[in-house]
Amino acid sequence: MDGFLSTRIEYLKGVGEKRAGILNKELGIFTFGDLLEYYPYRYVDKTKYVKIRDICSDDVYIQVVGRVVGKELVQGKGQRLVVRLADETAVIDLVFFRGLKWINDSFVIGRTYVIFGKPTLFNGSFNFAHPEFETLEAHKKGLRQVLFPMYITTERMKNSFINSKTIARYVLELLLLCDRRIEETLPAYILSTYNLISRQKAFEQIHFPQSDEHLAFAKIRLKFEELFYMQLEHQYNKSRNTHNSIGFVFSKVGDSFNEFYYNHLPFALTSAQQRVVKEIRNDMRSSHQMNRLLQGDVGSGKTLVALLCMLIAKDNGYQSAILAPTELLAQQHYNSVMNFLKDMPVRVSLLTGSTRQKERRGLLKDLSEGNIDILIGTHAILEDNVIFSNLGLAVIDEQHRFGVEQRSKMWRKNTIAPHVLVMTATPIPRTLAMTVYGDLDTSVIDELPPGRKPVKTLHIYEKDTHDLFVFMRQQIAEGRQIYVVYPLIHENEKLDLKDLMDGYDVIADNFPLPEYQISIVHGQMDSQTKEYEMDRFKRGITDIMVATTVIEVGVDVPNATVMVIENAERFGLAQLHQLRGRVGRGAQQSYCILRTKHELTTEARFRIETMCRTNNGFEIADADLKLRGPGDVAGTQQSGVLDLKIADIVKDNLMLVQARELAIKIIQEDPQLVLERNVLLRKQLFGQQVQKDFSRIS
Ligand code: ADP
Ligand code: MG
Repeated sequence: MDGFLSTRIEYLKGVGEKRAGILNKELGIFTFGDLLEYYPYRYVDKTKYVKIRDICSDDVYIQVVGRVVGKELVQGKGQRLVVRLADETAVIDLVFFRGLKWINDSFVIGRTYVIFGKPTLFNGSFNFAHPEFETLEAHKKGLRQVLFPMYITTERMKNSFINSKTIARYVLELLLLCDRRIEETLPAYILSTYNLISRQKAFEQIHFPQSDEHLAFAKIRLKFEELFYMQLEHQYNKSRNTHNSIGFVFSKVGDSFNEFYYNHLPFALTSAQQRVVKEIRNDMRSSHQMNRLLQGDVGSGKTLVALLCMLIAKDNGYQSAILAPTELLAQQHYNSVMNFLKDMPVRVSLLTGSTRQKERRGLLKDLSEGNIDILIGTHAILEDNVIFSNLGLAVIDEQHRFGVEQRSKMWRKNTIAPHVLVMTATPIPRTLAMTVYGDLDTSVIDELPPGRKPVKTLHIYEKDTHDLFVFMRQQIAEGRQIYVVYPLIHENEKLDLKDLMDGYDVIADNFPLPEYQISIVHGQMDSQTKEYEMDRFKRGITDIMVATTVIEVGVDVPNATVMVIENAERFGLAQLHQLRGRVGRGAQQSYCILRTKHELTTEARFRIETMCRTNNGFEIADADLKLRGPGDVAGTQQSGVLDLKIADIVKDNLMLVQARELAIKIIQEDPQLVLERNVLLRKQLFGQQVQKDFSRIS
């Protein structure tokens, strides 16, 4: 029966080769199965009619019942047919430009018709352009189907006369063909436990629901299936990685770790850091390869955790690497690691795209001969000619990149895959973590180092310049430093730069030399100037740093206590949170000042309010995901979350949790899926998803 659903779409009655080509190109529909999974985006209730007088919006499909009271062929640029339709409340025009003869014959004056379409506002009144229509009698006969499906179609399809109704006809044809022939994909025990309808029923009802309730059941069934198989795949991979994969055994904690921990560490670990190091250490000595996600808020001390783990690797005779998403971040990691290690005999190198050829050659040689303990770098590390002598631990710092492929590239850097620790720069919401990193174990640093005062966040308006400057002068008088950040929206760099320069001028006027020193940094500067300016700020020579979001990552100046974000309404939540993380790093009270224009959209207001309400990165990430949906969270494009056909990890998050729990339970009881009751699961998993399975270790 699988064969049946993979039948090519051109063989469906009424489709044919030409239209099949259009369905292929425009909708990605190649087979019967693809068509069945092309779900309606909404439904029209065929029993609801709008009175002509009540038509008020021009963007929804509606039905109108009325009598034809007039017809007129109008000569204009081209010919058009205007049919006048009346109900007891008013009259409306139906306008047609094509197929005039046939349409003219179809409308008989005095007869009653049901019109279906989107009203358009034209010269102050509504009309219908090319609505669908049928006589009231025909309509009543067809009323068995109350909810009628609407499918998304493209302009090109419409030109070839494939509209939503055409698709509906194809689907109906197909459903008749496969009457009771659609194979079940979920075992009976799951169907009964979760009270799910059969796959056959679900497909019938998602396209042609008998009622709202039937539709709801169909959606639940199809969403559950989709989420469940995604989670089952994660759990299967995870279990195989932990149980079947050999990992390097880091059995001891040796000299490097102890020397650092007892003699160099300038502060005590937070208890969250301790717990997480323990979790990682247990993985690394277990003889199974580690694949762990380390989450923690900005400033929670992830880099230090990574360093401690890398020292354990060294003590066991292995090399480590940190893979960072940008050059700036790689440099930043390098600096902090060097800073921590001071004069300890640990050999650390930095490899990025701008490492010079000559230096690079020497570095690669050292690396392959085992003369480097820790390599820090960008994706340059992933290149094939970067050969480690014995890579034992790979730390991947992901800034919303969700790089499944990067992970698997790092795996292949040694004959036995190294342990892998993935760190995220800012917290990611639980639902996203479950879907994107579902095959990893998770550790969370849920505590900031002691002595930090939570950053105070305030919302002010553009007109509050005077108060703002007074406050800034106070802070500078107390010896503090200040960031003033402008948004960078790539579509219009010139305008952005102008905003920044105007802002800079105002600040320069109000904070004059020699009393005040100002740095400015933006993306269009050469990197030397940039570094010079950053350095002056770092060393406390300048009081104010006016910048675009280039400072979002990688700047660590504990004496900076004020982050002023201009046009804050134009920033996303994740970005605002990242920026705020630049202050609050020292012992002084810090402030984040969000400055906006007076009029705010509901969404912008929500973002600002969220920032003022909480400092918790996990909460903010959740709010962000709810606000924008998974499609707009940076990085998800490559993550596969968006390949979901019907489920939505935000709206269906309770179901996601359920599906995940079920998947975990099943894999715990039957890791290989060999039990009789799970045969179907095994077949589904390996039938469809072989290509997606990056995580196989070869
Ligand atoms: P993250 O990468 O998680 O955003 P970092 O690793 O950059 O955080 O740490 C932020 C700052 O906190 C760094 O200056 C780091 O040295 C410091 N830090 C880390 N752990 C502790 C700790 N246990 N106590 C005090 N300061 C810490
Ligand atoms: Mg960091």
